[in-house]
Amino acid sequence: MANLGKKPRGRWQRMAAALLLALTALASASMAHAAQPVAAPQATAQPQPAQTSAQSAYTLPPDKLAKAIALSRIRNILDIGGSVWGVVFLWLLLATRAAAGLAAWSERLSRRGWLQGLIFFAALLVVLTLANLPFDVYGHHVSRSYGISVQGWGGWLVDQAKSLALTLAVGAPVLLLFNWIVRRWPRRYWLAGWAIALPLLVLSTFVEPLIEPLFNHYEPLAAHHSDLVAKLEQVVARTGTDIPPDRMYLMKASEKSNGLNAYVSGIGPTKRIVVWDTTAGRIPDDEIQFVFAHESGHYVLHHIPKGIALTAVALFFVFWACARFAAWLTRRFGPRWRLPQTEVKTEVQTEAPLSSRAGFAVLVFAVTLAGFVLQPVSNTFSRHFEHEADVYGQEAIHGLVPDPQKTAVAGFNALGEAWLEDPDPSPFIEFWLYNHPSVKTRANFAAHYNPWANGGHGKFFAE
Ligand SMILES: [Zn+2]
Repeated sequence: MANLGKKPRGRWQRMAAALLLALTALASASMAHAAQPVAAPQATAQPQPAQTSAQSAYTLPPDKLAKAIALSRIRNILDIGGSVWGVVFLWLLLATRAAAGLAAWSERLSRRGWLQGLIFFAALLVVLTLANLPFDVYGHHVSRSYGISVQGWGGWLVDQAKSLALTLAVGAPVLLLFNWIVRRWPRRYWLAGWAIALPLLVLSTFVEPLIEPLFNHYEPLAAHHSDLVAKLEQVVARTGTDIPPDRMYLMKASEKSNGLNAYVSGIGPTKRIVVWDTTAGRIPDDEIQFVFAHESGHYVLHHIPKGIALTAVALFFVFWACARFAAWLTRRFGPRWRLPQTEVKTEVQTEAPLSSRAGFAVLVFAVTLAGFVLQPVSNTFSRHFEHEADVYGQEAIHGLVPDPQKTAVAGFNALGEAWLEDPDPSPFIEFWLYNHPSVKTRANFAAHYNPWANGGHGKFFAE
């Protein structure tokens, strides 16, 4: 789906396991994803500039305001349109019998079952990627024309190719594994799939930092911004996060983007902080301290394990419901979609078609649909965690910067302006699509959050 200035991440992950789609969507909610601001304008064209700026701590100069409003409309349409198209496309694959045709084709290419499976799932992933390509292309075009992306089409295509290669290398075997599980346990496969999905989820969080260098260059932060490293170490000391200077990296984002970002990724020995080179030296160090403190909050407040636990609970029900739904679909449409009807070695004949390759596409369809429908649910949890990290971040820089409120508000404004975040998204859009509260919401909260007034203290720090 279009990145449109969001941190260009997670594509391989999303595709990597079509079956894990819902799962990754839920998980990414919990993953420390930096103060990527999601902005907030007056979406309607009612010009009340004086009032708006008086009320919102997030403001944009007039030219950027108009751009941000126009861009956020395109982003929202691409985002929702891309998701709907993904679901519709899978349905079409089944309804036109293309899925059945693809399965028959893969069977002609090899006699070995596992190889047929790999070919089928690789082909399926390629087809799904191609189906999504128009959205990706248009998204990149818009991002370039609004001056957020500066990546040329050649480099962009290379990134897409790498991402597809990774998708195939990871996704095809994972899908094959799930397909095998359905054959092995025709009744309770959803439970076995659920049990397998959880370690995969933890593993993907762990390896993420090891995958990232395929797409971007990283250098030691200390080599370029030793002052910043010293300031980040102050935050490390105050928050107790275990990130030594040699785990602080500078990412060469400027080759691709004008956006601002800093984030923490990985767990255990792969944990690290990354600051984009578009950010270090471009916005004041104290604002980067704030972003880093926010990120540290995700770790200190255990958002990653909490997110994984929530995902686990949700997936249990999602997989169960998808299994029921897919069984119903195959009963209702199986013959019309040319799903195998006779391959029945179990007592539960009606579920047999699902264990075929084309039948497995029905499960992929069901899970993808569930992922779309549940997006607002996972985003609601995500926004809750993000808000908590905002509070933590602001408290963490207390005593390190002269005025935490000012620093946080300035940080949100810098991020919002760099990404042209919508200054006032509609509540529906924020509810459905935003995994962070809008920048307006965040900046307004920061502007008024002052627990230290009258000798008090915050929620997470004694002073
Ligand atoms: Zn965050």
